[in-house]
Amino acid sequence: MSERYEVIIIGGGPAGLTAAIYASRANRKTLLLDKEIPGGQLNDTTDVENYPGFDEPITGPELMERTKRQAERFGTHIVLEEAVDVEWGGQGEDHRVITAENRYEAPVVILATGAGPVELPAQGADRLKGRGLSYCAVCDGYFFRGKKLLEVGAGDSGFTEALFLAKFADEVRIVVRHPEDDPQRFKAKDKTLIDRVLHHPKIRFLWNTEVVALKGEEKVEGVVLRRRDTGELLEMDDIAGVFVNIGHKPATEFLQGKLEMDEHGYLLTDRRMRTRVPGVYGVGDVRTFSGEYAQAVVAASDGCIAALEAEKYLRDRTWPLEEETYS
Ligand SMILES: Cc1cc2nc3c(=O)[nH]c(=O)nc-3n(C[C@H](O)[C@H](O)[C@H](O)COP(=O)(O)OP(=O)(O)OC[C@H]3O[C@@H](n4cnc5c(N)ncnc54)[C@H](O)[C@@H]3O)c2cc1C
Repeated sequence: MSERYEVIIIGGGPAGLTAAIYASRANRKTLLLDKEIPGGQLNDTTDVENYPGFDEPITGPELMERTKRQAERFGTHIVLEEAVDVEWGGQGEDHRVITAENRYEAPVVILATGAGPVELPAQGADRLKGRGLSYCAVCDGYFFRGKKLLEVGAGDSGFTEALFLAKFADEVRIVVRHPEDDPQRFKAKDKTLIDRVLHHPKIRFLWNTEVVALKGEEKVEGVVLRRRDTGELLEMDDIAGVFVNIGHKPATEFLQGKLEMDEHGYLLTDRRMRTRVPGVYGVGDVRTFSGEYAQAVVAASDGCIAALEAEKYLRDRTWPLEEETYS
């Protein structure tokens, strides 16, 4: 038998937990599903210094634990199960969310499943994640003042990160898989950005190379690179941090064919976080627009908007999509 709620939120990162605070505080019977301990990507980091309201750094897991307790205080029911399928009802009707263990029904479903970086395929990467290996320069760059860093990823985001890192670091070396004379040597397209990176006094390139291993037990203490033309291995023991930007993957596999997505699988919504299915919202890093600004505060803002919109929908059950802001 299905258990019935008014609002079901899938994903307990900053977006989902914020939606849960608002929905349950509005006295709606709210279920939040997460396949892991709620907290999302911030559970993978140490100090968070840019989330408003904390004048001293707070660790990612503590910030998320406190947000979870805040949602629970207003009555959110948190269940650790993975959503594996959904069945949409019509306007004003209940939708169904299916997990391996149970089925849940509600007229509102808020999708907050986030996105994850494509991980560096190098030896030691699992062990050193959050210990010198980072997938977020805005979050962690500050901790590497005066150090030598490696940026893996030569797209526009990798270059933007390299410029950001060069504000703190002594030197940033960008690993590029293609040779210098290859006309397709970078994925980056933004000419101004490329020009800035090429002429930056602290940035240099390691052409025709890839990272094969990270050195260090407790923290990154160097890297092993391989030249792609000769296979020659090159050790660098002066690298204190490795920043990776080789793409992101939204957690939308279970929604394929059920909702509109962009070519990378990010959910399309209007500016009120509405998908084309009445009562179904997409928030946080899983949403195409917000993923561009993948930050906790942006995800939280999306969650707040969706919950306020859901409150209106639960009252009047209408769904006037704003085509001009649908993206
Ligand atoms: C290492 C690191 C450090 C960062 N540091 C900062 C920082 O200092 N400041 C900052 O503002 N931002 C930081 N960010 C970015 C920030 O964490 C993200 O922008 C934010 O977490 C996005 O929130 P979200 O709720 O959209 O998604 P996520 O945080 O990705 O949460 C999604 C949740 O959904 C769950 N989920 C996924 N699929 C399912 C499913 N099918 N069923 C049930 N549950 C599911 C996941 O388990 C996860 O808990 C950092 C990111 C990383 C990786």
